[in-house]
Formats: sequence, C-alpha cells, structure tokens
Amino acid sequence: MRLSDHFSLAELTHSATATRKGIQNVAPPAIIDTLILTADRMEKVRSLLGDKPIVVLSGYRSPAVNAAVGGSKTSAHMTGHAVDFLCPQFGTPAQVAAHLAKHLTGFDQIIEEFGDWVHVGFGPGKRGQTLTARKVGGKTVYTPGIKA
Ligand SMILES: [Zn+2]
Repeated sequence: MRLSDHFSLAELTHSATATRKGIQNVAPPAIIDTLILTADRMEKVRSLLGDKPIVVLSGYRSPAVNAAVGGSKTSAHMTGHAVDFLCPQFGTPAQVAAHLAKHLTGFDQIIEEFGDWVHVGFGPGKRGQTLTARKVGGKTVYTPGIKA
C-alpha cells in the first residue's frame, strides 16, 4: 500500500529487529491514518533535501518492537509520528539534520542520533525542538541543537 508518492506502508512499518526476533509490527487502522500524514510530511522532507532518495530505517513501531529496540516509553514511533532515516545522496546525518532544522517547519523534533541517522518527529506537540544524541559512558545524552 502506497501512503504517498515516495513512501509505502511496508517501508514505514519495516523493522529489521522485528524481523530478526519474529515480532509482529502491524500498524492498526488508526495508526495507518497517522502514517499517511507522516508520509506527506516526509515528502516535504524529501523535497527540502533536493528530491534525493530517503532510506527509512524505522517508522512505526508496535509497543513490542519499541521495547525490543530499547526505544523511549513515550516514543513518537509508537504513534506513527516519527521516522528515522538517511539521505546519503544529500549528506551525512548531521548535514541532513542541520539543513532540516533550518528549513523544515511544523515539526515536533529533529534529532541527529549518534552520527548514524536522523530522527524526525511530527507529533502534535510541534515543539520545533532540535537535539543531538550521543552515547556518553553507555548512556544517551541529548544536547540542544544540531552539532556539525
Ligand atoms: Zn527515532
């Protein structure tokens, strides 16, 4: 099922961890409605990044999948509002996050996570928060802003 021009339901519900651990990651109908809105926002992200391919690492996570990946208990992934992704043809995760922080509007969170991917959240809070996540002594530490 296609959610928007460039994003499918399969893509936004894929989880390597779920597949590996044999956990179901099926989005209920109400979440699919949210994923359609999220895909629409991701079209804007894609266009801001020069219409280069977006590689989705994680979109919707069922509570079981979220627990399996060690996600936050209040993760926006569980409501279908968040996407972790890469855009290698645009640049590094830090470059992608910095560009979006400057040009994207109406988002809740942009987090550059560990230099490995970008998390964007479109939850109803719309805080416009930008963060950088790093592991310090085995713990995840968030600092304000996007560090280059
Ligand atoms: Zn995320």
